[in-house]
Amino acid sequence: MNLAALRRIERVDPARPDVVVGSVAATTPDEAARMVDAADGARHRWAATALDERVGLLIAAADRVLAQQDVLGLLLSRELGKVRADAEGEIGFAHAFVGHCARTAPGALAERQLDVGRGRLAVTALPYGAVAAITPWNAPIILTTLKVAPALLAGNTVVVKPSPLVPLAVSSYLAELAAELPHGVLSVANGGAEVGRAVVRHPAVRRVAFTGGGVAARALQSDLADGLVPSVLELGGNDPAIVLDDADLSDEAIERLVLGSFLTTGQVCMAAKRLYVHHSRLDELVERYLAVAATALVLGDPQGPETTVGPLASPTQRNHVLALLDDARRRGAGVVELGTVAEPDLVAGGWFVRPSLVLGLDDAAPLVAEEQFGPVVPLLAFRDVDEVVRRANASPFGLAASVWSTDEERAFALGRRLECGTVFVNAHNRGGMHLRAPFGGVKQSGFGRELGDGAVADWVQTRVIHRPPAAPARQYPTQGEP
Ligand code: NAD
Repeated sequence: MNLAALRRIERVDPARPDVVVGSVAATTPDEAARMVDAADGARHRWAATALDERVGLLIAAADRVLAQQDVLGLLLSRELGKVRADAEGEIGFAHAFVGHCARTAPGALAERQLDVGRGRLAVTALPYGAVAAITPWNAPIILTTLKVAPALLAGNTVVVKPSPLVPLAVSSYLAELAAELPHGVLSVANGGAEVGRAVVRHPAVRRVAFTGGGVAARALQSDLADGLVPSVLELGGNDPAIVLDDADLSDEAIERLVLGSFLTTGQVCMAAKRLYVHHSRLDELVERYLAVAATALVLGDPQGPETTVGPLASPTQRNHVLALLDDARRRGAGVVELGTVAEPDLVAGGWFVRPSLVLGLDDAAPLVAEEQFGPVVPLLAFRDVDEVVRRANASPFGLAASVWSTDEERAFALGRRLECGTVFVNAHNRGGMHLRAPFGGVKQSGFGRELGDGAVADWVQTRVIHRPPAAPARQYPTQGEP
């Protein structure tokens, strides 16, 4: 028996499942625990390292990664089936985010002296210490960076546990980031849930940032309960896109709507997953949508230059989407295939699903009520705004939503009625993101935020150092003014 092979995680190409892309060494739970020991051992020195030096190390590492954008993007594209330009785009976004964190870190971490008259009061930033980042497979470089960059800049040491579905690109990426960092400051533990558990249950872990699904999140929360370890949870979504009666249905606007659902083959937490369209524009929208999708959605080889939709990341994911489509057909829904198929032979052999628009379902159908996480989107008609607000909000999820209207004030007013973490206007999905905007969900889409101007500040706790003026010890303070 080849014992070495047993301890490797192998990844095949989702477009060509008989081709092995590569493998990484699997971390055992004991090894993962030792990584946390090392992170704990490194935390004092790293926290005491001057911020300028931490920034310099991270920026230099991010620059080195950017110089390898094509190689790393290709690897990610091959192991995940992600369209190559999108995979490379992850690396560009990650680089930009490291820069954003570097710019905001001095303000976030600066000691503030409050003017309290006769006393002296300083608010200082205290890093958590050794922290864990648990990440999913669908946007792995970005979702890792959203945790690692601000955590490290804030003075924490990090153990990352990536998804076993994308170990190759994330491991290479983290190896480059860690190359010039002291031992223990940044480590990667490759494996499944048992390795993740070994990391987060370690008593030295002081905060966990998790992105993934609800089942794992619930297990994680019970593991963290013992040590009262705080966490940020970025979970799934079932985002409504609301097309009002005055929406712009030009080619350019419709392409944004279409790609808002189908980028990364629909495997995006903040994809538009339910399209609510005002009944007066329904026929026009369907016609325009099919026409634009015919050129915008090209299903094929993720490394092909024309391809915009690749395969799904795993057979499990593919079967889940196909089961939802079967259920929709049994309910009498119309399934309209979208776009074109560039390479029918390749598509027949890989984990592909033809992009589809699904008509005629009601809100209770699983394809509408659940997170489908694939290239299918249901289209639903509505008659008035109160009705659509009620239906959009009637979900256990609350990650993002979008409003499509030519009247910006109207769109923002409707946005204020939606129960979610982000409302895009005339956009949906990554095109609506901004480095300065905090991102995260409400309800079962999670809690806490990543991204945005507060990203670094979220990775420290305040520590107050206060010398009050001489006063009777039993007296309550009554003065807030300096
Ligand atoms: P998942 O929940 O199965 O796994 C996520 C990570 O958690 C993986 O690394 C996995 O190995 C690990 N894990 C599983 N059980 C664990 C446990 N008990 N303890 C510690 N770690 C554990 O999710 P997935 O299938 O990789 O990703 C898809 C999900 O992620 C979707 O629901 C999607 O919506 C969500 N997602 C959310 C966001 C967001 O920002 N809100 C972004 C991307 C993906």
